[in-house]
Amino acid sequence: MIGTKSTSGGRIADPGRWPARWWHTAKARVVCDLCPRHCALKEGDHGFCFVRQNSGGRMVLNTYGRSTGFCIDPVEKKPLHHFYPGTSVLSFGTAGCNMGCKFCQAWEITKSKNVLDRLSQTATPEMIAQAAVQLGCDSVAFTYNDPVIWAEYAIDTAHACHERGLKTIAVTAGFICPEPRNAFFDVMDATNVDLKGFTEYFYRHQTLSHLQPVLDTLKWIKHESSVWLEITNLVIPGANDDPGEIRQMCQWIRDELGDDVPLHFTAFHPDYRMRETPRTPSRTLVDARKIAIETGLHYVYVGNVDDPKRQSTYCPDCKTRLIGRRWYDIDTYQLDQNRCRLCGYTIAGQFGEKPGHWGTKRVPVDPAALLRSLEPEAIR
Ligand code: SF4
Repeated sequence: MIGTKSTSGGRIADPGRWPARWWHTAKARVVCDLCPRHCALKEGDHGFCFVRQNSGGRMVLNTYGRSTGFCIDPVEKKPLHHFYPGTSVLSFGTAGCNMGCKFCQAWEITKSKNVLDRLSQTATPEMIAQAAVQLGCDSVAFTYNDPVIWAEYAIDTAHACHERGLKTIAVTAGFICPEPRNAFFDVMDATNVDLKGFTEYFYRHQTLSHLQPVLDTLKWIKHESSVWLEITNLVIPGANDDPGEIRQMCQWIRDELGDDVPLHFTAFHPDYRMRETPRTPSRTLVDARKIAIETGLHYVYVGNVDDPKRQSTYCPDCKTRLIGRRWYDIDTYQLDQNRCRLCGYTIAGQFGEKPGHWGTKRVPVDPAALLRSLEPEAIR
């Protein structure tokens, strides 16, 4: 028997061979329908993402219930600036990725061949949700590697989180097929989608994937779901920093998604197969933000740099600095729920009565200690 089915927790008999969803057979191969690569696998083969495998003529997921680590982060680090600012998030990821980005900033867990050996002990959806409650977190984030490739695990964990009143966040590149997309985002409260560039050339050559499915995902999230959406664009010198391309991207966001979708321009650091490319100059991020604001986008931020002015949220109407930030720290808060305290303008996003006070802390959580601290029913 492969795996042991459980909708929201319980024991995982064989996390390395969890029954996958979204596949079919054709010409003696198992064909994956989860992402637009549609890997066609012979017996024993792994997909491009490395975590889905043809095992006995069926597709299995070999990272269900296995994490590369847990950490409590500020929600601003996802980054999400309009989703319960100042609150804490229990973040975790697994291994592998369905993208092939040469500039990957987390390649040790997405691309390293031996990462599966470093996966931690089993963490069921139920355990993760209970741990988040015990640790006082407001949300659980599926992040570090793209949760699309471990959608079954993320979905079950999201259900367990919702049963406990926790919110769920997906940090993803959005490279997913329509059917699993609906099931995946159906259980998410917020998402940050990486829009990695704005040409098919860039996507094809620098990420080994395609642009259009990502644009389709963005439009679907904005118009067909209730998931709160923010976008990140990692600006890489000489690769996707052309001002004309950035302007086209901003125009597309304005026209297809609306002017109130927050956009984060973040700085690249040399990594993986782009170690010769320099770090993004702050000036480039400042210029990109200027282009976005000229285009008409209301909420544009810079990230991975020290720039409080451009990390803060301003009222699009009266220009008041509503949420003052330095990195992930909030020093000003001028919102009444989602309205500007001065002029009453409605700010897009989801906000509580008050901001959280988690601050800039990043607290790694030892999975073994976490396990020991849990109530017995969560680890049955
Ligand atoms: S999710 Fe993985 S196995 Fe499935 S098509 Fe994408 S890369 Fe291939």
